[in-house]
Amino acid sequence: MSLTTRLSLGACLLVILTVLLRARWGHDLLYVAIPLAIFFGIVAGRSIAASLTALRDSARAIAERLPPRLPTSNIPEIVAVAEALKLTDRELAERFAELRREKAEAMAIVDAMMEGVIAADSRGRTVLANRAARELLGYGPWAQLPELATLFRVKAAQEAVATVLAGKPLYDHEVDLDGRVVLINARPLNEQGAVLVLHDLTEVRRLEEVRRDFVANVSHELKTPLTSISGYAETLAGPEMDEATRRRFVATILSNTQRMIRLVDDLLDLSRIEGGRWNLARVPVDLAAMVQDSWSELSSKAAARQVHFALECVPESVRAFVDPDALRQILGNLFDNALRYVPDAGHVTFRATYQDGGVLTSVSDDGIGIAAEHLPRIFERFYRVDPSRSRDAGGTGLGLSIVRRLVEAHGGRVSAESAPRDGTTILCWFPDAPREGPLVT
Ligand code: ADP
Repeated sequence: MSLTTRLSLGACLLVILTVLLRARWGHDLLYVAIPLAIFFGIVAGRSIAASLTALRDSARAIAERLPPRLPTSNIPEIVAVAEALKLTDRELAERFAELRREKAEAMAIVDAMMEGVIAADSRGRTVLANRAARELLGYGPWAQLPELATLFRVKAAQEAVATVLAGKPLYDHEVDLDGRVVLINARPLNEQGAVLVLHDLTEVRRLEEVRRDFVANVSHELKTPLTSISGYAETLAGPEMDEATRRRFVATILSNTQRMIRLVDDLLDLSRIEGGRWNLARVPVDLAAMVQDSWSELSSKAAARQVHFALECVPESVRAFVDPDALRQILGNLFDNALRYVPDAGHVTFRATYQDGGVLTSVSDDGIGIAAEHLPRIFERFYRVDPSRSRDAGGTGLGLSIVRRLVEAHGGRVSAESAPRDGTTILCWFPDAPREGPLVT
């Protein structure tokens, strides 16, 4: 029953009661009825007021996202308002949950970005910095970041911040942040702060330098034999010369041509591996057989210098899961080097054994060895300890880098152990070791 109906009914009932009582006993009961009406009015008013206060408190609680304490009442108007508030509370809770989810998603995306993102509010306070930005600036995930104006220690970056805080956008501003090359793009946000995007270009710049060095190295490596060929060819084209000199000149031209062919072959191999065009076809192979094969190609050269070769596989039938062509190339390069750097009557040993779920191989020699300062760099392209000695011995400076690339393409790793005059050992570890099953030869 609605509030208005109840009040009207109450009033009617009071009037009827007064008329009846007056007719029955003839007393004028108005003196009784009026205080009674006032009493009931106060009781009813208090109950309604209590419900309305509870409704007001509930509305406030909902606004503050606290659990509302809605009144229970049998007055339909109060019940209807309470129901409406309950619905509002539920809808707000859903909206807030959705907003929280969307915010979390947006934050996860910003956090996963490769670029560093920093946002500042209208007062220049840093309000957001994603993982990449924190790493770049050396802050931990939960560290409080200073204001944008003092965030960078480098002057060029501080100037960039000043520009954006002055309301001007900034495009592709390259700065050096403690040894890292960083590209800054920044935008003011309609007088509500600014957002900065930091792009770490260190690796890109390093690769550009590597490429420049590579082109310079290749040009240099080709120029030397080409200059020599050109000089000797010019002389040959000149006036008559004796047969012995002519033969010597032709031999020099030939050896320079072969050197260039070796270099181009190595470069092609390297570009095939690095370009992902050497598709490894891994099969189980018997290492001892493959090693014997590879060494036999160099055996006449070794015999001429009385270099001894030993093969130590533990167990004898040790197997590797490798691409046979790649393994041939690896062994060829390592044996070539060993032969190049051992003295006459020196020793070369190939060892293999199962280790760490794969196969560990090593090629050792008792040659000139490598000084400690050169050891970490010998797998780099064109790195040579003694460039002229390497060239004279027919080296291209690419042999070990090809070995490393091929081993790594198998998921393996390479390392070197050496000491001057004590010889050198190059270790290659290949993952997976098929101890059983058919072999491919
Ligand atoms: P290279 O064609 O010059 O041999 P590599 O890439 O095969 O080029 O080797 C790089 C350098 O590492 C060589 O120039 C040489 O100085 C050193 N090196 C490689 N293998 C040996 C070895 N077995 N003994 C001594 N030095 C070696």
